[in-house]
Amino acid sequence: MSDRIIKIFDTTLRDGEQSPGNSMTLDEKLQMAKQLAYLNVDIIEAGFAISSKGDFESVKTIAEQIKGPVIASLARVKKEDIDAAWEAIKYSARPRIHMFISTSALHMQYKLKKSPEQVLQMAVDMVKYAKSLCEDVEFSAEDASRTDRDFLYRIIDATIKAGATVINIPDTVGYAIPEEFGGLIRAVKENVSNIEKVDISVHCHNDLGLATANSLAAILNGATQVETAVNGIGERAGNAALEEVAMALYVRGNYFDAKTNINHKEIYRTSKLLSNITGVQVQNNKAIVGFNAFLHESGIHQDGMLKHRETYEILAPEVIGLMPQALVLGKHSGRAAFKDRLDHLGFRVDEDQLQKAFEKFKSLADEKKLVSDRDIESIVLKDTIPVEEVFQLKTVHVESGTDITPEATVSIINTKGELITNTAQGTGPVDAIFNAVESLIGRKINLLDYIVHAVTEGTDALGEVTVRINEDNRVYTGRGSDTDVMVASAQAFLSAINKMLHDQP
Ligand SMILES: [Zn+2]
Repeated sequence: MSDRIIKIFDTTLRDGEQSPGNSMTLDEKLQMAKQLAYLNVDIIEAGFAISSKGDFESVKTIAEQIKGPVIASLARVKKEDIDAAWEAIKYSARPRIHMFISTSALHMQYKLKKSPEQVLQMAVDMVKYAKSLCEDVEFSAEDASRTDRDFLYRIIDATIKAGATVINIPDTVGYAIPEEFGGLIRAVKENVSNIEKVDISVHCHNDLGLATANSLAAILNGATQVETAVNGIGERAGNAALEEVAMALYVRGNYFDAKTNINHKEIYRTSKLLSNITGVQVQNNKAIVGFNAFLHESGIHQDGMLKHRETYEILAPEVIGLMPQALVLGKHSGRAAFKDRLDHLGFRVDEDQLQKAFEKFKSLADEKKLVSDRDIESIVLKDTIPVEEVFQLKTVHVESGTDITPEATVSIINTKGELITNTAQGTGPVDAIFNAVESLIGRKINLLDYIVHAVTEGTDALGEVTVRINEDNRVYTGRGSDTDVMVASAQAFLSAINKMLHDQP
């Protein structure tokens, strides 16, 4: 096994979080950051501190609470950005300021309206300034893959002299082709003096579906850090997927003569946690973490698998923490068996979370004879993400059918602890529920998205509902799960509202 370690810089909470549908609250980001620490990523880019008050608070909270990985904040090459980044990350034992400026002719001329010499001077001055605050400074030459080579060498050389510890070469617009991108990394190594003193990082976007391939080509040519996001989320078509880069290096470590520090057994859970937080499921055929990634459908393949697993399997699902369904729990299963199952699936819960999840499991087992691992994941992932309950759902009754106007009666407990009830009509049962909730809380809600997803097959499956609402350009995601999709809908709607009210009472 190789000793060459490729550092994983995870940007799920910055590049990923800023992409549509993936916004998270502070509590959700913290939950995700904890999981990234279990996954053992080397660097967590926690956010872009100057971009908003909320972003600043999340970066600061993560820097204060998450131990282990380096905690980075993004900054432009501006004093106020660097100050905000430093104020947020200085609580970490291992802080990093990550700053960027565009270096391609196209970006410098049209976006920045600055000459190459001005850009170079700003980068050098601000790397020096950042270095006066923080030992670890990463410099990114934005749009590097479309930057004039000589200018790229010059700015890298100058920023290393100014004190940068990591040089990032991003394929910002997902334009590069693997062989070409590998050649760029090799050329930087050959043409920049002192490059061996710093980490060479790459940050590839997936516009042509090549983000992982480009990142791997860079590793073959000398990159020592790769920037990735869980499930490949990020701007436009996303970033290189963490699970793809990590598992390519695991399965083909000898070929790359490299490995990562990633704790592979946490990969499946990390992917699931992100999907549960954002409500965005990965496509079924997604590499490594998709629903079909380890299924073998054709007869010939199944026959081969039964004779010898390696005939059609390059990676056992257990390696990423996707455990085989050992036993199915039912209504007679006790707390110990349930806890045992959680341990087997790798969930860490405290007493309080265990009790909540166990109660939910018991009521599910009453409705559904057999409770599978996927059901348990749904229960646990939902209940371990804290949502402050401003309003609490008590009961939902719905009437709908072919010849009646759908009508819903909803009861909730309000902030004063009073039980309040309202009945409303709607074009359908979900609409009626939402109308009843809106009049109970006394405000109109702007609904962006309503998604239903069955956790397992069968008509008694647990239904997961995700609701997205927005207010003042902020998006709030709520989740609910129940064997009754109408109940799950009411839970999800109210949980999104609770998050919104928590943020802006
Ligand atoms: Zn990016």
